[in-house]
Amino acid sequence: MIECPRCHSDLPDDSDFCMYCGKSITDTSIVESPDVEGSQLKENPNKNGVGILSTLVMVGTLLVFDFGLGGLMQAMGRDYRWVFVVSLVLYLVAIALALLSLYIDHREKLQGYKPGQNQGFAAATIAFSILIILLNLNQVILA
Ligand SMILES: [Zn+2]
Repeated sequence: MIECPRCHSDLPDDSDFCMYCGKSITDTSIVESPDVEGSQLKENPNKNGVGILSTLVMVGTLLVFDFGLGGLMQAMGRDYRWVFVVSLVLYLVAIALALLSLYIDHREKLQGYKPGQNQGFAAATIAFSILIILLNLNQVILA
């Protein structure tokens, strides 16, 4: 079997023309445009930092509000629920940033660029933020 250089159909060895698209098999003068496959995406000049930013917002909220202020208010015997309500809003911001990051990657891929390397950060932010929100809702805000 041989392969059609234009449509990549399998053809009998003695073919002169492709039976599917009509391309001449012996004519190699036409340079085919390169395939746009995953491996041939352009290097992305735009470093998408939104994914990492979303993770920083999440970790910062966890340390400053949930552990820091929340723990402090609790230790002082004050009402600490509002702290977790504020942190809830910040986790939603982190999730929004992570979704934005995934959207930016998706859009750049459509434009032929390699996506940024931050999908892991974005995915982790979404997963952990939802987990912490559920824990806070269950144990603090609705308790
Ligand atoms: Zn063909």
